[in-house]
Amino acid sequence: MNNQKRREIFTRWRDANPEPTTELDYTTPFELLIAVILSAQATDKGVNKATARLFPVANTPEAILALGLEGLKTHIRTIGLYNAKAENILKTCRILVEQHGGQVPRERAALEALPGVGRKTANVILNTAFGEPTIAVDTHIFRVANRTGLAPGKTPLAVEQRLLKVVPAEFRRDAHHWLILHGRYTCLARSPRCGTCLIADLCDYKDKTP
Ligand code: SF4
Repeated sequence: MNNQKRREIFTRWRDANPEPTTELDYTTPFELLIAVILSAQATDKGVNKATARLFPVANTPEAILALGLEGLKTHIRTIGLYNAKAENILKTCRILVEQHGGQVPRERAALEALPGVGRKTANVILNTAFGEPTIAVDTHIFRVANRTGLAPGKTPLAVEQRLLKVVPAEFRRDAHHWLILHGRYTCLARSPRCGTCLIADLCDYKDKTP
């Protein structure tokens, strides 16, 4: 795929959705961090249901620490892997209080040092909470980048690095959300909706559906 096509793809996504954002509900960087940790192998809808119960009761590291492990679990037990996630969240809250004044740090290394936070989560926080032009490659972005030819790569990291290289600067901050939404609602894993796809004429995928 050439750069002209890439620019056209992002221009169409921007025209259709000028201010894309996450489907996770949050009002502060800390709430977003907790929502993203909870979202591993869970749907955004399921996470939103749980955080709608949790955040009115506790939406700061101090308040979640005060809930304790069992208290936290009662609010998130509808989410898969909630035992492990609850433990990671408590450890993360402790580090935030002890090392970051109760705030979510804006540096990648400090974010990735938090339990339950890997490169992908750090990218989401840097991008969505702090407006940095990072791209968090999840399963949707990995598929869309490879299928369309936008930024092929064998690993999520390879795709991330390629996207950062080839996405024009003006689209870089929002690229993450356009790609995820495209993968979630149009370029579906099993049967992509090529017939109604906004970028079908620009996409390199050989087996387009009617
Ligand atoms: S044309 Fe099909 S394969 Fe290509 S991006 Fe659209 S939905 Fe995905």
